Amino acid sequence: MHRDSFSILRDTMRWRVALVLAVLLIVLMIALGSLNTALGYRDTANLAWMVLASMVACVIALVMLPRRSGGTIFFIVIAAVLVATIGFGWYHGHAMQHWAYIFPPVLVFLMSARHALAGMLLFGVYVALTSMPLLATIDIVRFASGYGMLVCFTYTYALLQERAAAMLRYNSNHDALTNCLNRRTFNEAIDQLATSHSRNRCTFLLIDIDHFKAINDGHGHLVGDRIITRVAAELGRPLDAGVALFRYGGEEFAIMLGTGLAVGAELAERLRAHIEASDFDGIDVTVSIGVADWLRGSGSVAMAVGRADRALYQAKRSGRNRVVVDSPAAGAFTTTA
Ligand code: GH3
Ligand code: MG
Ligand code: MG
Repeated sequence: MHRDSFSILRDTMRWRVALVLAVLLIVLMIALGSLNTALGYRDTANLAWMVLASMVACVIALVMLPRRSGGTIFFIVIAAVLVATIGFGWYHGHAMQHWAYIFPPVLVFLMSARHALAGMLLFGVYVALTSMPLLATIDIVRFASGYGMLVCFTYTYALLQERAAAMLRYNSNHDALTNCLNRRTFNEAIDQLATSHSRNRCTFLLIDIDHFKAINDGHGHLVGDRIITRVAAELGRPLDAGVALFRYGGEEFAIMLGTGLAVGAELAERLRAHIEASDFDGIDVTVSIGVADWLRGSGSVAMAVGRADRALYQAKRSGRNRVVVDSPAAGAFTTTA
């Protein structure tokens, strides 16, 4: 799965929260274990020591494992400890429903708001049923009311947070003018290509609008903006679903394909012809396209992007409104128009 900078930041924040909570819980369990031992509650003290041991294991996991899995393990352990604590209370005849209030916020660190809601409700039913033999009915009603309100507030907050995060993620990955993916996402995609080993080949198409300065000068920047937006829309039209179009620079776009140089060159020529044939409110708009291939083991991804850029420059020098393909033999270009 592609991990963008937004997901990485979220995992890092969750990891930090987990580390702080694990240390706090270690301190709390030492205090509770000692207190229960002093008061003669041996079984409750043993529970505190077991939770302490699992928190120490969590700290080790948080430090040793990648942040994403370390954070996930911590919150799963906390959820499991809470389920076990309620079961422990039922088995030993001590009501433990006060620990149940921690469960809802733990779940929202682990799953989507909707799944967390289902989990919180199920857990609430479990706590109410196991507390029935231990508490007066009025106390069960009090627990259910308080826990129910907590679930409502936690779910609402998680849902709002989820929507805000989706909006932020969209804005951080997309360009505001054209709604294409932005340069940051392109940079992340090429980093991912170099490091993830999920793909061994990628064909780059770099597309630049010809004589765009003249369009700006002749018609004004607002019309220029509209042309960039329309060109983005027209470039996206012939692309298969799943093929992303990036706004690489001001009036430059990029496409990454996994299909190889010949298919990339054929697509580039189709895009060039499509833009030439499209009507931009009477303004002549054409594009030049540079195409280059990257194969794992044949040099860095950045070098392949550089070769596509050189091919684009070659297309400009040889008259614009054309496609230049960087051939595997060094320095050789194939031009189509
Ligand atoms: P060439 O055929 O060699 O590409 O000529 P060009 O005029 O397109 O080349 P150049 O790259 O020098 O000019 C690009 C211009 O695009 C310069 C810049 O003012 C303009 N530009 C970049 N981003 C935007 C934008 O978001 N809106 C508008 N209106 N203009 C932009
Ligand atoms: Mg240009
Ligand atoms: Mg340019």
